[in-house]
Amino acid sequence: MKVVKFGGTSVGSAERMFSVAKLIKSSEPRIVVLSAVSGTTNSLVEISSALYKGDKDGANKLIDALHNKYKVLVKELLKTADGIKKGNELIDEHFEYIRNFTKDLFTIHEEKAILAQGELISTALFHYYLEENGEKSVLLPALNFMRTDEEGEPDLNYISDNLKRELKNYPNDKLFITQGYICRNAFGEIDNLKRGGSDYTASLVGAAIEAEEIQIWTDIDGMHNNDPRIVKKTFPIEELSFDEAAELAYFGAKILHPSSVLPARLKNIPVRLLNTMQPEAKGTLISQKSSGGNIKAVAAKDGIYAIKIRSGRMLMAYGFLRSVFEIFERYKTPIDMITTSEVAVSLTIDEPKNLEAIVAELKSFATVEVDKDQSIVCVVGDFLGEHKGYAVKIFEALRNIPIRMISYGGSPNNVSVLVETKYKNEALTALNDGLFNSGNK
Ligand code: ASP
Ligand code: MG
Repeated sequence: MKVVKFGGTSVGSAERMFSVAKLIKSSEPRIVVLSAVSGTTNSLVEISSALYKGDKDGANKLIDALHNKYKVLVKELLKTADGIKKGNELIDEHFEYIRNFTKDLFTIHEEKAILAQGELISTALFHYYLEENGEKSVLLPALNFMRTDEEGEPDLNYISDNLKRELKNYPNDKLFITQGYICRNAFGEIDNLKRGGSDYTASLVGAAIEAEEIQIWTDIDGMHNNDPRIVKKTFPIEELSFDEAAELAYFGAKILHPSSVLPARLKNIPVRLLNTMQPEAKGTLISQKSSGGNIKAVAAKDGIYAIKIRSGRMLMAYGFLRSVFEIFERYKTPIDMITTSEVAVSLTIDEPKNLEAIVAELKSFATVEVDKDQSIVCVVGDFLGEHKGYAVKIFEALRNIPIRMISYGGSPNNVSVLVETKYKNEALTALNDGLFNSGNK
């Protein structure tokens, strides 16, 4: 069984859904994971913000506008009288459900129920389209098997048991459609895997059934060696190890949800990143294999806060780092980069929600400085211990960029530097020239 996931733009219009239907034509068994139609989840977030503010009129206007978009989509996607009727009934039902939330108290539970509607609609409409075209498929409700635990982490055993149980009901079927992103939490309530979570669903589904391969289809030909929106002359990376892909996804490569490498790596299932607009392109293969000893890619993550914590003595004073980390742990704020010296420790976070409280606590035993508008620029590759010269290449390329922090040695796959965001584009371009295109200059 293969798991194939299509993102929001891949199902963004009737036309794009036709292409997806063509791409999944095959005699091999597959589970197709779909995102919501592009723009939908953003609209549902907007509707929810209006409702949080008690702006019922505003919310109703947004709901009507989105409903109208779907009326057009149904008309373009479905052709038979029966298909159109079913399509319209389906969207009317979902939008009626959403409208009901304008009448009552609005909390995070209602928001999560609203956010789930995008994927429920896209998968059902696609399923109707296949049905209309004589393609037999089964719609598997993700809410019957995707689940997170008390910590909010996906419960792979539960997912595996329940997905396998669902699949057993259809011993003769080969094509299954399910929703990305949505799940139930430990209390059985509707929840989600956070924005961009459909990739994560695909990887979890793949791991749950020990799939032969997980394919993530987007509209770019794989993971690039640098950010193609900023840097010229980037190219797709043919092969990456799980660890390299995880570092890249975490440190900024937008093509893949950062957590989505983990389940695939756990069960050693290859992940292929492919392009719906160019299906014959090789894309990127992520697997256990490491192609050894070279620099693969550069990525950057914005919105970073650097926190410098200084005390009279740090390294000699054991327990100091623990007191620092405990504070971040208490506020459930993950640390990305960290560097230390005898008198100070600098670290970075990308979630400022509890920053003020964290700083207040740190100040009880240290002096603290916070710099915002920072970016982590991360060079990923296979920096094997016995190979020389990586650092010199990287820093030679960055010779004109002021660097705030350096982190090397945390893993053999990553060298990260922190720069002010205003230097990010320059840093990415300099690294591209210095590391990948030096022959072309
Ligand atoms: N529809 C969700 C989002 O826009 C999940 C996804 O597309 O992966 O974030
Ligand atoms: Mg995505």
